[in-house]
Amino acid sequence: MHFSSGINRPPYEAMDGFLQVTSGCSHASCKFCTFYKDAPFAVSPMEEIEEDIKEIRDRGWKFQRIFLQGADPFILPYNKLMQVAELIHQYLPSVESIGGYARVDNVRNKTVEQLRRLAEVGYSNFYFGNESGDDKLLERMNKGYKAEVVVEQLSKLDEAGMKYIVNFLGGLGGYNYGLSHARESAKVINQLHPTLVYASELTLFPDTPLSKDKQKGLFAEATEVERLEEMYEFIRCLDIDTVFKAEHVTIPVPIRGKLPEDKQNMLELLQEQIDIAKEGGLDGFRKRVMSL
Ligand code: SF4
Repeated sequence: MHFSSGINRPPYEAMDGFLQVTSGCSHASCKFCTFYKDAPFAVSPMEEIEEDIKEIRDRGWKFQRIFLQGADPFILPYNKLMQVAELIHQYLPSVESIGGYARVDNVRNKTVEQLRRLAEVGYSNFYFGNESGDDKLLERMNKGYKAEVVVEQLSKLDEAGMKYIVNFLGGLGGYNYGLSHARESAKVINQLHPTLVYASELTLFPDTPLSKDKQKGLFAEATEVERLEEMYEFIRCLDIDTVFKAEHVTIPVPIRGKLPEDKQNMLELLQEQIDIAKEGGLDGFRKRVMSL
């Protein structure tokens, strides 16, 4: 198998087959990002992709889902994605769906009709790392698009009937910025229909531009209490039918539930944790997060 970086996947995709169709990230500029530093962006040749699919078949692995590798394999144009799906279904008949990580601007090069056909051949539940709906933050973190682009592009998936997941990155605004980040992010997501809202928390690692900003005094991290209050506000403001999960290694208190029916329980749990954190119960938690 060809893998330019280690396998990157969310916790829910542990049982998938992994296939590299792109390496690295087409953007590679987010200020907080630690991923794919070992691999410049590249599109895998179709011969290499076919070779890897055949290797999965020859090893006798029977996967229901393939999780494409690379930071944003959904950047591939429609025709190439259709070819990849055709090869997967030809050699791996047990596969029912194909996903991966994605950037919001990966949708730009596809029409609604093309997205509909991609959904029909099994593409579903890509994880879109939109992180925030706050334009000031998106710009500050070099995400490469504004909130209106998130709504515009992901609405195309809704129209096409392609399922998708959106990510919220707590703590992204740093000290004293959580409530705006929470409210603006919820405002964007409330215009969309993701199957899952998946939250994680900003954790700074050395050698990122954001860590350097911190050293220069240009960025201060949010406290653990602020992060919990931000998460509280984010969930409180979400008013769509979806599933919410915050269970990443960067989250001190795992939370999950269906919205809207479990909202009150999740908020009560968070309020308890806010009270504990105010007493110093989460002091030192973030220093213990060694990797993502
Ligand atoms: S899009 Fe994702 S992988 Fe690429 S630089 Fe930003 S956070 Fe990192």
